[in-house]
Amino acid sequence: MTEMLLKYFREQQKQVETERIYNTQCPYCSMQCKMQLVEQTHVKRKTYKTIGRDNPTSQGRLCIKGMNAHQHPLHKDRIQYPLLKVNGEFVKISWREALDYIKEHVTEIQEKNGADALGVYGSASITNEEAYLLGKFARVALKTKYIDYNGRLCMSAAASAASKTFGMDRGFTNSLQEIPFTECIMLAGTNIAECQPTIMPYFEKAKENGAFIIAIDPRETGTTKIADLHLKLKPGSDAALANGILKVIIEENYLDERFLQERVNGFEEVMQYVASLEFSVIEEKTGVPLEKMYQAARMFGQRETGMIFTARGVEQQTDGSAAVQNFLNILLSVGKIGKPRCGYGAITGQGNGQGAREHGQKADQLPGYRSIENHEHRMYIADVWNIEEKDLPRKGVSAYEMIEKIHDGEIKGLFLVCSNPTVSNPNANFVKKAFEKLEFLVVADLFESETAKLANLILPASSYLEDEGTMTNVEGRVTLREASFPRRGEIKHDWEILCEIAKVLGKEEYFSFSSAEEIFNELRIASKGGIADYSGITYERLRAEKGILWPCRSLTDKGTERLFETRFAHSDGKAMMVPVSNQAIVPKAKITKKYPLYLTTGRVVSHYLTGVQTRKSASLSARNFESFMEIHPSTAKKYEISNQELVQIESSYGRIVVRSKFSEGIRPDTVFVPFHWADSQNVNNLVSEKLDPACKMPGFKVSAVNISPSVKRSSY
Ligand code: SF4
Repeated sequence: MTEMLLKYFREQQKQVETERIYNTQCPYCSMQCKMQLVEQTHVKRKTYKTIGRDNPTSQGRLCIKGMNAHQHPLHKDRIQYPLLKVNGEFVKISWREALDYIKEHVTEIQEKNGADALGVYGSASITNEEAYLLGKFARVALKTKYIDYNGRLCMSAAASAASKTFGMDRGFTNSLQEIPFTECIMLAGTNIAECQPTIMPYFEKAKENGAFIIAIDPRETGTTKIADLHLKLKPGSDAALANGILKVIIEENYLDERFLQERVNGFEEVMQYVASLEFSVIEEKTGVPLEKMYQAARMFGQRETGMIFTARGVEQQTDGSAAVQNFLNILLSVGKIGKPRCGYGAITGQGNGQGAREHGQKADQLPGYRSIENHEHRMYIADVWNIEEKDLPRKGVSAYEMIEKIHDGEIKGLFLVCSNPTVSNPNANFVKKAFEKLEFLVVADLFESETAKLANLILPASSYLEDEGTMTNVEGRVTLREASFPRRGEIKHDWEILCEIAKVLGKEEYFSFSSAEEIFNELRIASKGGIADYSGITYERLRAEKGILWPCRSLTDKGTERLFETRFAHSDGKAMMVPVSNQAIVPKAKITKKYPLYLTTGRVVSHYLTGVQTRKSASLSARNFESFMEIHPSTAKKYEISNQELVQIESSYGRIVVRSKFSEGIRPDTVFVPFHWADSQNVNNLVSEKLDPACKMPGFKVSAVNISPSVKRSSY
């Protein structure tokens, strides 16, 4: 059989008439692996495959998602023309008709209700140029204060924590090349083996070199397998666990006193607060035995170098920002930052999770990580945009709060770019109802996602194969995604769509761009002098240097590989430690008699976000074609649930039905469900709408649920 197959493939190979190679970068996670699409023309058909391309970050590697990433943009269901909903059905219209429709409705809604009756919802999967332009489009073309994006649900806690502690938020304070040489690594709430697989070899290499790896997660995953110590905490107790580790570090004096004295504010307050905590209380709250906290603290304190990484497991909680700050307290207490092989990384989830949070699509932000409420910052950007400062709208609200305003009728129309908020937001049943209330919903996307189905108008947007632009990866490295695959039908780039809408709204003079590079050159000026300063980066340099780590303040600046070597980014140059309570200000879901189990959520290796793209890929979909609930066999027995059985999961917000999957590796008080599916399998139907007050991150990682077999035994 194998011989026959080989013969077939050899025959196929001989029949290749032409071969074309298209350079691009993977559309999925923040590793932004460089790749090539190989298009082979045979006698009667074309075939495609994706291969890795060498680069400093992923070094030519691709994971299963990347290897199959060409399947969705080539899918027959790609939207290729503007589609207008008429009598409940989408019908193909011309771009002229689509733009006229937009103009008519924008004008009508804003004349009747004011500029803020329109909102914009962006994405962390779009390029830096498009994220920048979307912020400008909201403030200059629509003059609305309501803009936010799906990165709010992903990176906001880590961003807020790093900004408060260090005065600056860049995904990783070092380059990935340093990881193999560090001696102790704490991986808190991150499943890199499934979420960012091509980063794993850096950690495997570190382990080979003798690093001690500590994983913090309520369940065993591909990532915890490489750990020397796994702290299997109760969901939602990360801040308390960090306090426990910190208490040992202080008690056994692993402190870097000189570093704390010279480079840090606030340590005394943290020390006093931590001294007031009881180990027994922390042990009870976290479910982590005290000796394991000691072991973690000793390893991290005693080794000369170390790094801490956090991700959504810590961050997607109603105290996610504070919990990350507490892990940064650990790092600062032992002085393991700002020097070789020491640092902090927030493993970004989305492809452009870093760049998309820097240049103005957040509710309170202007390009270059400037603040929309800071007068000097407003003056600078108003000048770059050639508008009056007084015409620049003020701060809006976060993504979920925008949806509440839609539900309340304050926001009546929405522009949505490359996102699927009715599936990805918490309290998803409510979110869907809110979207159904919109008078005017325009969606630019690749497919008819669950949210796009609710639109009045869908605009066909280009994919990562077709759309050139810059992305900023997990390290803070700006890379140029050179994409030139021919577009089908009447697909346009997101930036072209924004420019054309601005034109019909009479704002052409502010949006007269004819290439992504032109937008980037304006972004460079807009970011100059800001925290995320890109002013020294050009497309030409990105081609020659294979990416540049920001800040990069001039054409001769090589970029910044390691942050905080001499000073932190606060005005006095010092980092800021603050005491972090074991208890969140906004309470998390508690397990009760009615809802006796914790539910936590996450990804599987073959899917990405709400699965709009990966569910269109036959190879990826085949690996996980439906959702599931991971459950400990002892818990399953208690609830009379068998393996691979349909199970109903219920919280006070809703219910879903998924298939059970036994795992000895999960805590018996916890079940896990991935978030890549919609409708009756959408786990976000179960998640509370409560937000972290510091950054407005929803508490995705902790819900309280009840479970039962979906089909009652008596009905057999
Ligand atoms: Fe690389 Fe992430 Fe794409 Fe996998 S999903 S190929 S790790 S960018």
